[in-house]
Amino acid sequence: MDHLHNGTRDIHALIVDDDDVDREKLMRMLRRGPRNITFEQAASHAQALGMIRQPDAHYDIVFLDFGLKDGDGRDLLPEIRAEIDPDCPIVAVTGNADQQVAADSIKSGMTEFLTKRTLSPERVAASVEEGMAWRKYRQELRRAEEELTHRSLHDPLTDLPNRTLFADRLSQSCARARRSGDPFAVVMIDLDRFKEINDSLGHAAGDAVLVTIGRRLREHLREVDTTARLGGDEFAVLLQNVDGKDSALAVALKLTELIEQPIVYDGRLLYAGASLGIALCPQLGYDPDALLHAADEAMYQAKRGLEKVAFAEGRERRLAAPQNERSLLHDIEDALQHRAFDWHWQPKVDMRSGKVLGFEALVRWTHPKTGPVPADALIETVEQSHLLEDFTYLSLDVVLEQFARLQHVVDGAGIAINVSARMLERPGFVGRVVEAIARYRVDPARVVLELTETALIAHPSQAKRVIEQLHDHQISLSIDDFGAGFTSFGYLREFAVSEIKIDRSYISRFTESRFDQSLVTSLVVLCESLGIPLVAEGVEDPETQAMLVAMGCICGQGYGICRPMPYDDVRGWVKSWNADHGKRRLSA
Ligand code: C2E
Ligand code: CA
Ligand code: CA
Repeated sequence: MDHLHNGTRDIHALIVDDDDVDREKLMRMLRRGPRNITFEQAASHAQALGMIRQPDAHYDIVFLDFGLKDGDGRDLLPEIRAEIDPDCPIVAVTGNADQQVAADSIKSGMTEFLTKRTLSPERVAASVEEGMAWRKYRQELRRAEEELTHRSLHDPLTDLPNRTLFADRLSQSCARARRSGDPFAVVMIDLDRFKEINDSLGHAAGDAVLVTIGRRLREHLREVDTTARLGGDEFAVLLQNVDGKDSALAVALKLTELIEQPIVYDGRLLYAGASLGIALCPQLGYDPDALLHAADEAMYQAKRGLEKVAFAEGRERRLAAPQNERSLLHDIEDALQHRAFDWHWQPKVDMRSGKVLGFEALVRWTHPKTGPVPADALIETVEQSHLLEDFTYLSLDVVLEQFARLQHVVDGAGIAINVSARMLERPGFVGRVVEAIARYRVDPARVVLELTETALIAHPSQAKRVIEQLHDHQISLSIDDFGAGFTSFGYLREFAVSEIKIDRSYISRFTESRFDQSLVTSLVVLCESLGIPLVAEGVEDPETQAMLVAMGCICGQGYGICRPMPYDDVRGWVKSWNADHGKRRLSA
């Protein structure tokens, strides 16, 4: 970004207009502006098209007349975006001063609108500045989007594809194999002795081992193959065009050899090993999950046995849900009947002023025999069962009833309730939410539903409809865990989203990771431009909090501010928090 030269940098403009006098006039005005501008001119639609399609064509801005004798100037828009630059600012210059035409042209992708009759050097200069600002903003957005997409598909430590991307490549390979018979192999790799290294020499040593092995695997394999880190010390490889056991085994043994080569760390040699499991496609069918599972089983078999590499044989029948899972579901059903779930509240605050902005309700459940069950585990089980609907409506019922009793105490603050994505597809969902809100006489404008972004992306049109319905009832929607999945900023513009919560994983490494910092900076810019508040979740310490505030991320939630607390403690907490912050504000 060069701030210094922004005002004087040369600009190369294309002017498309079939009227010689108008072109001259525009150029004269442009020359009087503060920038150094060079021009190229096109006097017809056809000529403009020819110039745009030149292989080395480059323009910083295009001035475009609609009413060309040989065609509509607007037709050139997609061509300019595709051939020149997707972010090229395009200024409409027309004889028509109609408001509707102006609005339509902006909608159709023009950046600015000038009418010939009211043209002045100031207006022309302003349109150039607007155009340049627009381009910069678009480029920044694009960069952030790319960064985020890369990040959501790669493992931050090794920069290898992560589980999500691996799963995607695997399904593609399955589809290709089915279509054209291209065989491939899924190889699961689990390191041996990794835990020893980690425990005895520390995480830095463990990280060095993972990074080195990741690099060796990637360097050895071909471009068409995929090497991924699935998590922990687990890697996976897709080998394309491997048609039988012999060739797969040859590659697998080579990989083992690479893994076993000593790794130099801090002046010493570390030795790792690995167990590999292989599943072949099409021998074991075309189902991605089944292939992965088979490779995994084979890998465990290798771990138990003497051979380092094992092949999945035939189709192994997956065991039915393990006994304990079935009984967990049974116990959850029981708990639902007795309303044995509890919701703890965690505040969300303005990190500058300390003002309490709202609370998030988080489920808590103590299993009668095994003790507290982590919320994620509980939710995961509930989501995959027939209990999801009952659970969701219970959560709305309990939390809204709680909020009704407190809404006067916590003035202005809202209540956020987590909702599973799959609820969006249930008929009558919005009606039930509205009904519960009305039942407890809660102000709907203070109710926020938190949804993870994957929901929106999996079923965009359905999600859009539900969100619009919620919006019509003044209920807000927050995007939870933003950045954890396949993020696309495009969705944010489309949906009526009223808040974005950055995924905890970005915030927890925040003070050390330049990447996470740059991401937050981009998100701050984006959210400001969209007018959506940005919330940082998982703020654990004062340094993180101070950095976030300095970057313009003002709303925060996390252990460093306050842990989730039982509902009965909320009233007291608000009182003492406000007293503390009142004092601090006075002394500041
Ligand atoms: P979430 O929506 O991302 O909720 C935030 C989680 O971060 C909570 O975990 C919270 O206790 C934790 N947390 C807050 N501040 C910090 C911090 O500074 N550091 C760390 N390390 N963690 C922090 P919890 O309560 O275990 O909930 C886990 C997940 O379970 C939630 O993630 C949410 O997705 C889901 N969940 C919880 N309650 C409900 C519910 O009533 N309904 C649904 N559908 N999902 C729920
Ligand atoms: Ca949440
Ligand atoms: Ca979250």
